[in-house]
Amino acid sequence: MNKVLIVEDSSTVTKILKHLLKQHPAIMPLFASSYAEGQQLYQQHGNNIFAGIIDLNLPDASNGEMVDYLLHKELPVIVLTANYHEEKREQLLDKGIVDYIIKESRYSYNYALNLIERLEKNQAIKVLVAEDSRPTRTFIRALLEKHLYQVLEAANGLEALEVLKENPDIKLLITDYHMPEMDGFELVRSIRHSVDKSDLVIIGLSGEGKGSLSAKFIKNGANDFLQKPFFHEELYCRVMHNIEELELIERIRDTANRDFLTNLHNRRYYFEQGEQLHASAVANNTPIAVAVLDIDHFKTINDNYGHKAGDRVLVFLAHELQHAFSRFVVARMGGEEFSLILPGLNNEQAFVLIDKFRSLLASMSIPLGDGDSNEITVTASVGVTNLTHGNLDEQLHYADQLLYRAKEAGRNIAVSYT
Ligand code: GH3
Ligand code: MG
Ligand code: MG
Ligand code: MG
Repeated sequence: MNKVLIVEDSSTVTKILKHLLKQHPAIMPLFASSYAEGQQLYQQHGNNIFAGIIDLNLPDASNGEMVDYLLHKELPVIVLTANYHEEKREQLLDKGIVDYIIKESRYSYNYALNLIERLEKNQAIKVLVAEDSRPTRTFIRALLEKHLYQVLEAANGLEALEVLKENPDIKLLITDYHMPEMDGFELVRSIRHSVDKSDLVIIGLSGEGKGSLSAKFIKNGANDFLQKPFFHEELYCRVMHNIEELELIERIRDTANRDFLTNLHNRRYYFEQGEQLHASAVANNTPIAVAVLDIDHFKTINDNYGHKAGDRVLVFLAHELQHAFSRFVVARMGGEEFSLILPGLNNEQAFVLIDKFRSLLASMSIPLGDGDSNEITVTASVGVTNLTHGNLDEQLHYADQLLYRAKEAGRNIAVSYT
């Protein structure tokens, strides 16, 4: 579900939104300019629409009928309106809209689109609510589901631990303090033995008048807290803020693990992941193959076509490698040298796959520039081995020696050895 229904009769506003949407490639907009057209689009694409941005005042529906229509379909709705009415705003928020945004500046349109992008991402985010009071649990669940989070529930701390174990991809835990079996503090402490603040966000809930609970939650390892009773918007702000922080950390981590030019994983990631895979293959006595691939006479490409063309070849090859070996670890080790780790494959299987890639690469034309009809071909030499004695470093070193033999044998071949 990646489509957004935008119902707006002003062509100026539509134009601005279309322009701003260019910065949000993940969002696919469907534009309608009337209530009738909006309904029609919804009927056609309903299954793929995850949210709506709706003008309150439409030529054939001047009283928010389009909003009611979509709320009835349980679709998250962001209301766009030219006029601010506090009473109307309250009324619509009570009805369950996601937000009420005034058309006043580019900033407010951007705000609406950022919120839409948030909703789009939320569909993939799992949240666990640990709370012994069923009404409170159901209430929080409903609020979170309105923002499209995937919600799981637990009635006490022990149950929460179970759910977390079964769903290691949970990103956020909202937990109450007072719960039978295991309370909120114990739960947080127990989780923090093994799961870091930057891998799982925990927001503690504390009852009215017990301010010291909030501080204790943080001291025990929670990221944030929320005092009950809270306003809907307070919950949304805390949740959103913490999830965004988590995503930022993920982005920073990812940047540290990737090569800037090709966006492939880098040497650092290669060894971090690879050593684990290697150790587990050795421990379980399962095969694991390592390959090193190096472009032939790459220096000549730089010399003849320029460094920029050389870069294009590297990006092209990286993309093809990633595509062909998506199940495996693929890294740019430096310069025009790449390495693959193929757990589960014996020497023969790895060799067949890699040699097929080598021969495919040699047959491909690589475009050198935009609008430029210049195309070149490249070849690569490869060394493959599944000799696992010692560690990954040794296996890689051995693959390197095989690569050297491939170069000596005239290039554009793969050499393997068991
Ligand atoms: P061989 O077939 O023996 O591997 O020869 P080669 O020319 O491919 O190998 P050599 O190691 O002599 O040259 C590698 C060249 O790759 C030299 C270096 O300037 C170039 N290179 C390294 N990193 C980059 C890069 O990021 N971009 C570009 N365009 N060139 C790079
Ligand atoms: Mg309780
Ligand atoms: Mg080379
Ligand atoms: Mg080289």
